Order: sequence, then structure tokens, then C-alpha cells
Amino acid sequence: MSWVVAVASSCVSVSPNWPAHRAGAVLTIDLAAIAANYRLLDARTPGALCAAVVKSDAYGLGAAQVAPVLEQAGARHFFVAHVDEGLALRQWVSPSVQITVLHGARPEAAEDCVQSGLRPVLNSLEQVSQLQALADKLGRPLDAALQLDTGMSRFGLSGADVRTLVHEPERLRGISLSLIMSHLACADTPENPANAEQLQTLQTYAALLPKAPLSLAASSGIFLGQAFHQSLVRPGAALYGIAPNTSGPNPLAPVLKLQAHILQIRQLSKGDRVGYGLTWQADGPRRVATIATGYADGFARQGAGKGCAWFGGQRLPILGRISMDSMTVDISHIPEGLITADDTVDLLNASYGVDAVAEAEGTIGYEVLTSLGRRYHRVYEKTEQNI
Ligand SMILES: *Cc1c(COP(=O)(O)O)cnc(C)c1O
Repeated sequence: MSWVVAVASSCVSVSPNWPAHRAGAVLTIDLAAIAANYRLLDARTPGALCAAVVKSDAYGLGAAQVAPVLEQAGARHFFVAHVDEGLALRQWVSPSVQITVLHGARPEAAEDCVQSGLRPVLNSLEQVSQLQALADKLGRPLDAALQLDTGMSRFGLSGADVRTLVHEPERLRGISLSLIMSHLACADTPENPANAEQLQTLQTYAALLPKAPLSLAASSGIFLGQAFHQSLVRPGAALYGIAPNTSGPNPLAPVLKLQAHILQIRQLSKGDRVGYGLTWQADGPRRVATIATGYADGFARQGAGKGCAWFGGQRLPILGRISMDSMTVDISHIPEGLITADDTVDLLNASYGVDAVAEAEGTIGYEVLTSLGRRYHRVYEKTEQNI
């Protein structure tokens, strides 16, 4: 992977530095927009702490670059999925920043986890007793978050487990619970009654347990209203510009621009066919461009026939199947000479983001974002005064 950091208008190149023209496409990540999105979410949740979720390498955008910017924007609490991700994140944020590991630690990794100051989420009674054993071994109380399953049947203690803890409170001896959390299954559909039910269940269970701050909302949950904010909110996707729900305009700033190089421009005649399987056939003369991005770069084959690239505000439909390293787009309506093999076309920009690509591919923006390829030339943009 190659990347450079651009600060304001001056470009600071960081090794390994591949010039942009050696890669198939240039992915520009606007760190100032990520900071602005953090501040917007923080401002929307005045009674709560606003954490930042940077699992899966900050949803593929690069936790090493993204996390320090989020810390500068005010984030003091970070969430990752795995212990390894937490250990890596430790190098990129201040020691005082709290890092919580959503999956908790397997027994073999628990000591690494707590000795590095990572807070595990306890998702089962087994994880509770494993942490207690470690606290006994280390001779000190250990900080942890406790997750409760309020309906998703994915992670966390069940209602029966909560009753076990109520009847056997000594199971929590040596563990200092600094957060009780759960996760919403339907937060992107605000009208869904499951949202209020999950909130109610969380409050009912939490009332039976030692008192600790509560957390329920991720990105979409923030937009369900203040009742869902509790003590701490955990946005990930919204930081990176993904729309929290499908109703109304997206309040978050776009973060990405992806410009793919044109490899070839070809003139087609009526009857000529394009791509693997020869699935698309010209019904008349067409001009097409083969561009240097394919499914290995995160543009799924399902986007064939529905997805597009953009050039100067013009839509360029994808023709035929998407290949591993390339795809073919229709440039017939761009006047000849206006577009050449020296140009790039946009696969992502401020008006056509990962949510739009996801719609064409029949998936969600999260999947498009976390699938974006590792071989793009990456440019991190930050306008210092905005951070
Ligand atoms: C991934 C995750 C988040 C962040 O979710 P977004 O929808 O990306 O904001 C928050 N909490 C938990 C438990 C998660 O797994």
C-alpha cells in the first residue's frame, strides 16, 4: 500500500511513496471531513460522551492516520473489535485515551489486553469468570465493559445470564464495570418498534446490575433521539460519511474521492461486445473507456449494469462484467478530445459516495467502504485550520 499525507496545499510524501500514476487509482481521504463529522456527532449528543469506532483499520481508511485526527477533534474513547487492533491503536493515540475491545479477549490474550490498558467487553459469563481469574492472578481489580444481549442474539449476556449475576454477585468481584452496553439491530429504520424495546430491555437489565454508565447507540442510533444516547455513543460509519438512515438528506460530510486512471479508449461498432462472457453488446457506434479498477479493488461484480463512473458531472455507465483489475465504461456522450487516456474518472466523489455504489451493488455502504482495495495510491488530505 502506498500513501502520502497532504497538509493544506503542501504535499509531504511518506515512504513508501509510489507516485500516483503508478497505481490504478487514487483514493483521497479527507481527514478534515472525518474530524468535522466527529464534531457534528458530538454536538448532537450533548449529554453523552462521543466515542469513535475505528475497528477494521478505521473501516479500511487507515487507523494510523484517522485515529490521531479523531483524538485532535476531541475523541477520548475508541472502540476496536480485536485485541490486536487495540494494541496497534495504542501507538497512534495518547496513553490517556480509553480503548475498548468489542470482542473481549480470549483467555490466552487477556493478560496482553489488560496489561496494555485495553478495556475488554465481557460478552458471556465465561468471559466474566476468565477476567475474574486474571484479576485474582494480578492481584488488582480490572476494568471492563459488560455487554447485554437485548435482542440481536449476537453478543452479550442473555436475560438468564443477567439473573445468574443478580443471584451470584460474587461473580463480579475483582471486576470494575465502567460501562454496560448493548447494540441496536434496527437503528437505521427509526420507525421500527424493536428500537424502543431494546432500550427498555437494556434499562431493565442494567437496573439489576451494579451501577455503571450505559451505551446503546452507534451511528444510526444517535439519530433516534436523546433517549438512545445514554452515557456514551459509539459511532463508526457516520464518521466516515455513511448516511445514518435512508430518510432525508445525509447530514455528514463526504470523506472520499476515488479517481481511476483510464487505460484505453476504444471505438465500438454496432454488434461489438464487451468483457467476460460477452454479456454487453453495442446497439450502435459507441466509445468506451477501460479503467484501472476492478473487483479486486472493492467494486463488486454485482455492480455491473447498475453502477457507473463520473466525468465532469456526466454519468458513465459500467458496460458488461467487472474484471479483477479493470472495468469498461461508456463515454459515448463525452465529446471526443474532451476525455483522453491521460484522464481519470471518478468512482467515488462528494455526490456519489459509498452508499450510492452500495445501492448499485445491492449491499450497504459499510461493505463497500471496508472492501476498498489496498493497492490504491492513498492521499490523506487535511486542512489544518479545520482540525
Ligand atoms: C461496529 C460497531 C459500532 C459502530 O457501528 P456504526 O454503525 O458503524 O456506527 C458500534 N458498536 C458496536 C458494538 C459495533 O460492533
